[in-house]
This record gives sequence, C-alpha cells and structure tokens, in this order.
Amino acid sequence: MMALTTKEDLDSIKSWLKKGKAVALTGAGISAESGIPTFRGKGGLWEKYDPEIFANAEELLSTFRQKPERIVDFLSDLYSLLLQAKPNPGHFALAKMEEKGILDCVITQNIDDLHNLAGSRKVFELHGNAFHLRCEKCFRRMGLDREKLADLINKMNKYKNSKWKLLRLFSQFFPKCTCLARFRIDIVLFGEMLDYDILSKANQAVNNCSLLFLIGTSGVVYPAAQLPFAAKEKGAKIVEINNNPSELSYICDYQILGKAGEILPEFIK
Ligand code: NAD
Repeated sequence: MMALTTKEDLDSIKSWLKKGKAVALTGAGISAESGIPTFRGKGGLWEKYDPEIFANAEELLSTFRQKPERIVDFLSDLYSLLLQAKPNPGHFALAKMEEKGILDCVITQNIDDLHNLAGSRKVFELHGNAFHLRCEKCFRRMGLDREKLADLINKMNKYKNSKWKLLRLFSQFFPKCTCLARFRIDIVLFGEMLDYDILSKANQAVNNCSLLFLIGTSGVVYPAAQLPFAAKEKGAKIVEINNNPSELSYICDYQILGKAGEILPEFIK
C-alpha cells in the first residue's frame, strides 16, 4: 500500500513539476519490483557472492585463475536475473513523464537496462550497463545481443571446468577495439572511475532541474549520492520515493514512503 505524505503534498509536487523540468535519480530499489534484488536487500546476489571479490576487477581475475567455475556461477546467476527482468510501472511512468515533457532525464545507478527498455530516451547510466561492452581503454561502447549473451552463458556452463576453453570463449566474445585494447562488460566495478562524460552530463542535468526525484536508492554510493546536494544547492525541490528512509532523507523536501512502481504512476495521471 502506498503511503503518500498527504494529498496536498502530491498536489504541490505536481505544481512544481509544471514550473520547470524534473530529473530522476534512480537506484536498485526501482528495479526491485522487476525481480532484481537490491544491493543491500535480503536475498540479493551479494549474499551469495562477496562483493569485495565479485565486484572488484583484480579479485575477479584472481578468482578466475584459481576457481573459474565460481566466475561462471556468478555470471550465470547475474545474467539469469537480468535477462528475465522486465520494466515495471515505475520505469514506464518515468518514460511517460519524459514523453510528456515534464522529466528531462533519468540518471541511474542501475546496470539492468530497464529504463531503456521502458522507453526512456535520455538516460545517464553512471555505473554502466550490463548489456553493453566497453573498450577498457578508449571507452568506445557497443550493444550486446541478448540471444548471444544467453548463448555465452550456456557455453560457459558447458566449459565450466576448463580454464582454457573458457579463455578461448571469452576472447571470441570480448573482441579487440580499433585502439587494440579489449572490450569488457560495461559495468563500473568497485574502485573504478566513472565515465567522465556521463558524470558531467548528470551534473549538468541536476544543476538545471527544478525538482529531483530520488527513487529507490540508499544514497550511500558516491559520486551518485552527491548529485542531490548539487540540485538542492541550486534551489531544486527534492522528492524521495523509497519504501524506507535513506541516508539522504534529511535533505528531502518531500518523502513518499512506498513502492516506486505504485507511486510514480500517480504523477502521470
Ligand atoms: P541499495 O541496494 O543500496 O538501496 C536500495 C534502496 O531501494 C533502499 O533504500 C530500499 O529501501 C529501496 N527500495 C527497495 N525496494 C523499493 C521499491 N520497490 N520502491 C522504492 N524503493 C525501494 O541500492 P543503490 O542505492 O542503488 O546502491 C546499490 C549499488 O548496487 C548501485 O551502485 C547499483 O549500481 C548496484 N545495483 C544495481 C542493481 C540493478 O541494476 N538493478 C541491483 C543491485 C545493485
């Protein structure tokens, strides 16, 4: 059951939406209703796989050298979640708001591609996209075919116990770029820099918005968690939509406790 602060609050948020453009900053919570567990929530992937190992490039490589089957299990579990997930009413509502001209863009920390699948056109993916490859040197990107990805996962499981067969498979799947460096999955891992261009565009968007929706994020991952402060400093109203208070609740002008998939459609009524 959604718990809106008050009907007056909703009306005043709607009137702010008429005054200028809004921006949405989303986190794992918006995709929870699509079946993708949040990072810190119960039953998530990270209860089974230690993020210090599986979200860290060096540790991933060293685990691959010692126990390649662990990497195969991790990638299979991750992609079986991501390949099955479909956008939910929260994602669709944001796409509709953009189409109606009341939302400038979505800035997301998610890697699940669901905002794109829902039809949002201006999406800044701060932490990358699991369905893209990115050159590790020049940051050139290319899309990943979902069927080819599913095929890779099947083959990986077949060769699970042979490091050499897996290496051959990976070298076919992750080609070399024209700059001669290799492509890798476009996910920003722990300790890695964010794409400067994407982060600057996200900063520009929050600096120019009149309202920032803060949706389904615990607000502890930086530099993403810095963006609401920048918006606030420029005078934007901050509206939090989360089923629990977050680390950033104290700077929000409105707090709507509940599920993003139930609350966001209210704004396109
Ligand atoms: P988080 O897991 O730290 O926090 C999720 C937040 O969403 C919590 O505050 C929780 O209360 C809230 N929430 C849960 N269900 C909700 C719902 N139905 N509606 C509204 N709010 C809901 O997530 P984070 O702040 O995004 O940080 C996690 C990091 O892990 C990010 O960097 C992200 O890249 C990554 N991650 C991504 C995905 C994904 O792509 N879907 C999933 C898990 C983790």
